[in-house]
Order: sequence, then structure tokens, then C-alpha cells
Amino acid sequence: MHVGLTSQGRKVMKTYLYRFPSATYPREVHTNLPSSSNIASFREMAHGCFWVRRRRVSSERLLVVSGGMHGDEKAGIFIVETLLNKLTEGVINLHTDTLLLFGNIEAAFAQDGKGVRALKENGCGHFNNLNRCFGTPFSNPKCYAQKRANEIMHVLEEVAPKYKRIDAIDVHQSFAVPLVEEVRDNCHNRTEYTYAMAYPGVHPEHEVLNWFYQEYSDIVAGVVLYPPGTYPTFAGYMAATFGAYAATFEQGTIGYLDEVTYTPQLLANLERKLSGRFIIDKPLGFDVWEKRQDIIKEHTDFTFLDINGNPTHTPPRDFVAFPQQAYAKQGGVLIYREGRERLLFANPDVPVGDRTACVIARKKENGGIALPPCY
Ligand SMILES: [Zn+2]
Repeated sequence: MHVGLTSQGRKVMKTYLYRFPSATYPREVHTNLPSSSNIASFREMAHGCFWVRRRRVSSERLLVVSGGMHGDEKAGIFIVETLLNKLTEGVINLHTDTLLLFGNIEAAFAQDGKGVRALKENGCGHFNNLNRCFGTPFSNPKCYAQKRANEIMHVLEEVAPKYKRIDAIDVHQSFAVPLVEEVRDNCHNRTEYTYAMAYPGVHPEHEVLNWFYQEYSDIVAGVVLYPPGTYPTFAGYMAATFGAYAATFEQGTIGYLDEVTYTPQLLANLERKLSGRFIIDKPLGFDVWEKRQDIIKEHTDFTFLDINGNPTHTPPRDFVAFPQQAYAKQGGVLIYREGRERLLFANPDVPVGDRTACVIARKKENGGIALPPCY
């Protein structure tokens, strides 16, 4: 779901929608790369899937950066394209092997490059959503998203086993990141940082949190820890299948790329990592959330409730506290909030059988991570 926020109380965003492709992204296998790039090999393993390896010492760590799993979420596409261009121009001196992936390319091309979340395809159910297609390859793919997931998984199967350590950042813009002051009412200094969905995979929670703290806390305002399990998202697949440190990063309002969305800041962070600098200079605190459960729409009469208990078509906003205890109703049964629970991805319009909201709660003691200072 894509929630638009008013610009009230926040920096005015540039009305700039990135279009893909900008015609410059390198499609060919490059043989004449500048020596300043320190690239030993640059291979397009499949359409829009680039494996770039450094010279000399073989790297033990692979950084996977993907964008455009949803075709209208341009932040990740812009980041992948910019990294590719900087690598081939020799602007980045590569010290970390990387796999750079464009996700749903056909959905990104749709609407004259403005993109759509997923192509409308018959016979595919909700598997037209590429980010629900990862895990086991489709033996008989029925639509582009399934074929594309197979292609990407095939590349990973070839590349990933060559590395001891894999980090995977899948960049999205699935919801408008709220102001931190709306989420944590005593804090006004961090306004528009990224929210990350982290898939613990084989790693203990404290290691995952430490990974964010040391390497991404200049970018993230909050981390939502998913419980161990299998998930059909790309990040979930990377964690479960390859033991990767894997997360989905949510870069603010869909389609926008400016400072407010933290897209340029994330690009700079990833650029430093490709140059070999994984640890950030000044780690900051962030909020730690846990994902508790999904609320499945089981009845057509599902509705969210307002503060007076009346049906409303406006669901609670992502991460933001709502005062009422009973916040939804279906099949004559009220759905109650416990303690400090809040919602993510609340959307009353999904079909019956699909997720209508995801219940999250702040983790006690913040998972041991220091909160950022307020001033
Ligand atoms: Zn998305």
C-alpha cells in the first residue's frame, strides 16, 4: 500500500519522479574498464543482474544490492543504476565484490518508465508480485514475475556459494516513512530515516542488530525484526537460503529520490561499502520493533474502526500510535490492540485471504540498542 503524507511540518519534497531506464545503465560486459575501478570482471549474468568482482585478492564478502522488485519504487533502481555507472566510470575503486540487481524490469518500464508495482497478468494470482516469488524456483512459470524470480534465483545459486559472507539490501518504497517524532513523541531530531525489515535467518537477533548499528545506523531510524521462518520476499530468501544478513529498506514516499527519502544518503553509504568501508564513522541509535503477526482478511465485512468505534476507511498509519483499543472488526468479532502494538501495511482493500495489516510492537529495552539523543 502506498500512503501519501501531506508536506505539512516537513521539508517540501521535490516533485521528481525518476524514470527507468535513464538510457545510460551499462548493459554490456565491459572489457575496457578504467584501471581506477579495480574491477577484475564485470558480467551481466542475466538481464539486469551484474556480478562485479575486484582485482587481486579474492573477496570473501559479497554485497548484494537490489532495486525495483516493485517497478514503481524508483529509489532502489536509481541506486543500482548509479552504482553501476560509477563502477564502469572508475569513480568507485572496488574493494568488495558486488551483485547489483534490477528486480521487476518490465514493471519498471511500464507507464512510459513511471513504473507499476507489478504487471497485471492472468493465471498468476498474487505471484505477479515479484517480491512474493522467492524461495523454490517455479517449475512451470506462468507469468513474467515468476520467470524473473527464477532468473534471479538462478544467478544467486551460481554466485552466492562462492562467498563466506553475504549482505543483501533490497531497496523499496512501499510506505511513506513517518516522522520519527510521530512515532516516538519526545524525539524531534531525526525526521526521515529509513525503516528496515530484517530477516534474522541463521543469525541471532543481537548480531543482526549489531550489523545495523555498525553499518547502517546513519540511515535507519527503525528496524523491524521478523521472526525466524520462511518468507517469499527477496530479502527473506537471501537470509533463509544463503544465510545472508538481509533486509528490506523502505526509502520514504514512492517515486521520490531526494534527501528527505534518504536515498542519496543510502547511496553514499553503499558506495563506501563497495570501496571497502563497511563500518560507518558515527553509529547512532535506532528503534527496534518486532513483527508479531499478520491480520488476515477473512470476511468481506472487514473494516478498520475509528476512535469512536465506527467503521472507517482510513487505516492506522505505519508505526504511528492510535488511541483506540479495538481498531478493526470482521465477522462480528472486534480486533484489539495489546499494549503498545501498532500496525504496518494496513490496507482494508486487499482481497479476502490476503494480509490486511501486520502487527508490530516496540521491542523491550530496544533490543539493547541505544536510542538516539533528542534535542
Ligand atoms: Zn516494495
